[in-house]
Amino acid sequence: MGIWKSLKWKKNTLFFLHRELEEITTTRPIAYKGKSPHKKKKPERQQSESVVYLDFSRIFRPLGIVNPGLRRVWFVKDICGIVCAVFTWLLILYAEWVILFVIVLHESSGFSDYLHGSVFYLCSFLAFASHIRAMLTDPGAVPKGNATTEGIRSLGLKKGEVVFKCSKCSSIKPDRAHHCSVCQRCIRKMDHHCPWVNNCVGENNQKYFVLFTLYICIISIHALYLAISHFIMCVSRDWKSCSGMSPPLTTIFLIFLIFEGMLFGIFTGIMFGTQMSAVCTDETGIEQLKKESRERRSRWLSMKAVFGHPFSIHWFSPFSTPKFLATDKIYYSV
Ligand SMILES: [Zn+2]
Ligand SMILES: [Zn+2]
Repeated sequence: MGIWKSLKWKKNTLFFLHRELEEITTTRPIAYKGKSPHKKKKPERQQSESVVYLDFSRIFRPLGIVNPGLRRVWFVKDICGIVCAVFTWLLILYAEWVILFVIVLHESSGFSDYLHGSVFYLCSFLAFASHIRAMLTDPGAVPKGNATTEGIRSLGLKKGEVVFKCSKCSSIKPDRAHHCSVCQRCIRKMDHHCPWVNNCVGENNQKYFVLFTLYICIISIHALYLAISHFIMCVSRDWKSCSGMSPPLTTIFLIFLIFEGMLFGIFTGIMFGTQMSAVCTDETGIEQLKKESRERRSRWLSMKAVFGHPFSIHWFSPFSTPKFLATDKIYYSV
């Protein structure tokens, strides 16, 4: 009965059937010390609520888009992260609106205005796509509760090899994995949990996060340049035929855009530099903080381990999923 009840609760999908059975078979007996045994259900339900898997295939199938990846889309149910992610989209939309209606479309618009507008819109679309992929990609979560006798036996360890078990999510902790208290899961090659993308940055989504910081940095600098040059142009023309709005309104919108461009240009520029340094040195943010010493790959191999193999234009595309080398697999021995 317990299985059927929980299956109903989790929308009755095949994935959840597998996950629920896995959790039930791997749950260790609990000593109740005379208290009601019904209490054992509570912690399991609380833990499973931090991350949900959404099924977008039902929405996209009528449009002719059949992508198996859309059947299982990772989403972190963290209210702070969701607010930050929506705020990020609103900031991008504000910049797009000002660029279009204040800077590009006015009485004396020329070819260079349209060109600048198109480049800005292309980069902001790539930033938005990178953000969505960084947010909805499983960062490399280790299956929950797999640290059972059968699970450890299936690794085929040799004599003397040891495995770590996470005491918080009862999973076998691979080398370089860390437990995230927001996702409530162990994440392979975890760098940090970023509220701006409402997800952990880990083995599977670091490429999208790096691209997100890169494209946001590019559009911030571009917006800064366009806003300042447009303001100078308006002043030199004595505010005649340079904007479809009144001079005070134009000034307010441009000042906000300059402020936004400066703030996020500096922030994402530093973030991009930190991320690229971490990628090149093959060391995650957590490893840098803990000063963990380990064998490191060469700069080029570690770039390929994040952006995919081999080098191509796809490194810059948030739509292409990176292909990893066989040597990038995670091992368990310590
Ligand atoms: Zn864990
Ligand atoms: Zn996390």
